[in-house]
Amino acid sequence: NGVVETQKKDLFTVNSPNVHYTDDFINTKYTYRTTAVTQGADGKYVAAPKETLYDFKVDRKIPKVGVMLVGWGGNNGSTVTAGIIANRRGLVWETKEGKRAANYYGSVIMGSTTKLGTDSKTGKEINIPFHDLLPMVHPNDLVIGGWDISGMNLADAMDRAKVLEPSLKALVRKEMASMKPLPSIYYPDFIAANQEERADNIVPGTKASWDHVEQIRKDIRDFKASNGLDKVIVQWTANTERYADILEGVNDTADNLLQAIKSGHEEVSPSTVFAVASILENAPFINGSPQNTFVPGAIQLAEKHGAFIGGDDFKSGQTKMKSALVDFLINAGIKLTSIASYNHLGNNDGMNLSSQKQFRSKEISKSNVVDDMVAANTVLYKEGEHPDHTVVIKYMPAVGDDKRALDEYYAEIFLGGHQTISIFNVCEDSLLASPLIIDLVLVTEMMTRIQWKAHSAESADAKYSGFHSVLSILSYMLKAPLTPPGTPVINALAKQRAALTNIFRACVGLEPENDMTLEHKLF
Ligand code: NAD
Repeated sequence: NGVVETQKKDLFTVNSPNVHYTDDFINTKYTYRTTAVTQGADGKYVAAPKETLYDFKVDRKIPKVGVMLVGWGGNNGSTVTAGIIANRRGLVWETKEGKRAANYYGSVIMGSTTKLGTDSKTGKEINIPFHDLLPMVHPNDLVIGGWDISGMNLADAMDRAKVLEPSLKALVRKEMASMKPLPSIYYPDFIAANQEERADNIVPGTKASWDHVEQIRKDIRDFKASNGLDKVIVQWTANTERYADILEGVNDTADNLLQAIKSGHEEVSPSTVFAVASILENAPFINGSPQNTFVPGAIQLAEKHGAFIGGDDFKSGQTKMKSALVDFLINAGIKLTSIASYNHLGNNDGMNLSSQKQFRSKEISKSNVVDDMVAANTVLYKEGEHPDHTVVIKYMPAVGDDKRALDEYYAEIFLGGHQTISIFNVCEDSLLASPLIIDLVLVTEMMTRIQWKAHSAESADAKYSGFHSVLSILSYMLKAPLTPPGTPVINALAKQRAALTNIFRACVGLEPENDMTLEHKLF
């Protein structure tokens, strides 16, 4: 029961005239290579290589970070908390299949590797843990807290979730029992009526108010101070809410949204109140559920304050498979013509989603995930043409957190033939979502320490800026990625991972990962 060592020295340094290390920063001059295309009057394209020079600056000091989960006492909240404790203490526990040890499987940052380059002597690939690409926070060092409308302590919440092995629960029980969620705001109209029974830990008031914003801001400040934290990241892993109507004069601009909260407008959801409070505290806010927390006014408010936001909806099971499989099919030149997706699950999330308005939020976030891949293939699909796509979710208490996802992919192949792929995916939902919660925190935190400016001889004294408030780099972990207004959404899983990898590489002056391996082809 010791504490696992997490502080490591840099695993590699970059030897390049464009990369300069100081004790505090990694400074990089980076050439971003793209292709600019113009279309002539004859309809033909002209493609021209384009280079843009940037300076990146990475803060090397690893801060002490706190995570506050909204919905801390839920299946995801209790599972991720137990998981971090288990890793921090290097726990090993008995199961019917033998001993199991804590790990971070399912986390792209903690569980996957990336190619650093090729060994200059042997020509072999050198792969390093993704976590070592930049000076990132280790999840074992995260301090966890948060809110829940259910006042149950985390040990009892973990029992209620029915996710973890009894032998593991026994090892973390004492620590978890001392953790109790802060009271939260509950506006019954936004989540299913069937959740009312667990709402026993509530800040007074049933609609948005400025007092609620102030209370949440105070909770964030108090958590930060009492744990001696450098920064706090807030993440919504509470129940799926219904969509909020976008109303002119209410939530369409930052000022209107603040005014609507002050006047207690009924169309402001709890998640939007949490987002606003976090933005005003400059605590990054990530939405792990499908509802439209980020109404236009919330996005504008984040931009105004230069605060980071990310969303929406964890991409854990069915959609992750979909964004990989559809990418593969369409890029293989196979014409996908329909996707039928069924789910049944028996956890509290499933019970909440059995209510029509909340299901509708999920249906929307699950439905657009192939649009970009279809639109990009003008050989297979005419403009506006789209595969049929249906999503069904049913509540089936008996299966608990072991969600079932059944998918049929139906495609047209060569000369009018057909291919049908059927997938049956069973997994503990919260064990898939927990590593994503961790990745979202680690990547978001890293983004708060990366700055950029356009590079030129005259710009030597120019000020650095942060990335855009809307962190689209988080797309890999999210079903319906939020992107800066007016910019494209990328759903294809491989592209999302490439963006994450290559942006991190750029920050230390490394070229994007390309898989040309010419060194093995030209000799
Ligand atoms: P859960 O129902 O077990 O947990 C949600 C928790 O939020 C509950 O403890 C509930 O009391 C609490 N809550 C509800 N409203 C609240 C409020 N206003 N303030 C504070 N707490 C509040 O659900 P879960 O399985 O942990 O999933 C959480 C969310 O993540 C759901 O919206 C789900 O759709 C989303 N999600 C989960 C997965 C996954 O688990 N694989 C994937 C994608 C999205």
